[in-house]
Amino acid sequence: MENKIKGVKKEIVSKLNLVKDLKDIEKLRVEYLGRKGIVTLLLRKLGSFSAEERPKAGQLLNQSKREIEELLKIKEIEIEKLEKEKRLQGEGIDLTLPGRKLDRGTAHPINLVLKEIEEIFLSLGFKIEEGPEVELDYYNFEALNIPKDHPARDDQDSFYINKEILLRTHTSPVEIRVMEKQQPPIRMITIGRCYRRDAADSTHAPMFHQIEGLAVDKDITFGDLKGVLTVFVHRIFGKDRKVRFRPAYFPFTEPSAEVDVSCLLCHGRGCRACGYTGWLEIMGSGETDPAVFKMVGYDPEKYSSFAFGMGAERIAMLKYGINDIRLFFENDLRFLKQF
Ligand SMILES: [Zn+2]
Repeated sequence: MENKIKGVKKEIVSKLNLVKDLKDIEKLRVEYLGRKGIVTLLLRKLGSFSAEERPKAGQLLNQSKREIEELLKIKEIEIEKLEKEKRLQGEGIDLTLPGRKLDRGTAHPINLVLKEIEEIFLSLGFKIEEGPEVELDYYNFEALNIPKDHPARDDQDSFYINKEILLRTHTSPVEIRVMEKQQPPIRMITIGRCYRRDAADSTHAPMFHQIEGLAVDKDITFGDLKGVLTVFVHRIFGKDRKVRFRPAYFPFTEPSAEVDVSCLLCHGRGCRACGYTGWLEIMGSGETDPAVFKMVGYDPEKYSSFAFGMGAERIAMLKYGINDIRLFFENDLRFLKQF
């Protein structure tokens, strides 16, 4: 009996080596462990054994049956693994794996506002121009009618690289560069980063984004400026917003005006956000000073123009109701994911 069982085990091990797929394993399982299988038949024969032989033979047979079951199971797992690998190589992708969830990012609120502003002015016929962030003192100040001893330089505390080179404090130098290269008519906007040595607080940051625009042509009037900027305000903040032009002073425009929009929170009634005036200041504007035209070789008698400049952060803060400029630069996902 013992020899018989050993023979059966040997047989099954050699047959398992020839197994190619799961069907072969199933066949072997039926052949040995099925109702009419070799091991099953041997177990049935136990009855014919003597009372002394029976327990030992029974134990041996049952143990061998478990071993054979184990061998078949191991081979089955091995073949399943091989078949899966083969399938993966063939398809290059496992269609049975569950999908992975993609974590989608959102655009930064400053980029959203810049894009919207860009689209508004493009639709009004303005072209986009670019210029360097590391700028010559000449383009940043001198050509804009701000000589060395001019008090306006104090308001724009600058990052100087050397005596003549600095990080631009506004995007206005791009306008000078464009006017130097091109003759009117000009309708341009420029968008970009600017730098000032301001300590960061809720309304100031050492780096910020400006949008500046310029139109030069024959017969441009202050009425054109008011028309374009009113359309801009209505598109970016909504048609129900009122626009106010308030006399101001800038070295490179004459006359100059601050542009105010009726308070988005109190709708002009007065609240803390607008200092109880009902108005919020959003940008500076004016007609280009003849002194600037002379610097770039335009004839102030022949051409007139208007220009305007605003901070993207200020527009975004008002549009989205954000009360601290530092939120834009802290990269806090809890803030950024809201846009
Ligand atoms: Zn208000």
